[in-house]
Amino acid sequence: MPKKRVADEKKIKGILEQRGYKDGKPPRGYEAHHIKPLAAGGKDTPENIRVIKTSTHRRIHKNRRARGDE
Ligand SMILES: [Zn+2]
Repeated sequence: MPKKRVADEKKIKGILEQRGYKDGKPPRGYEAHHIKPLAAGGKDTPENIRVIKTSTHRRIHKNRRARGDE
């Protein structure tokens, strides 16, 4: 059974720091999101990390689960 990939929080923190987010954390009400899911081979890279509203984030993942993508 393949090992489930988990987000590399350190990498994400570094990416957000480079983008100017204080302490490498998204602002209140926002979260870091992988555009291409890790489960689909997405990586913890600047191109694949986006900071989006928590409400939007929840909706995206709800839709993905509904489609059976994660
Ligand atoms: Zn996400």
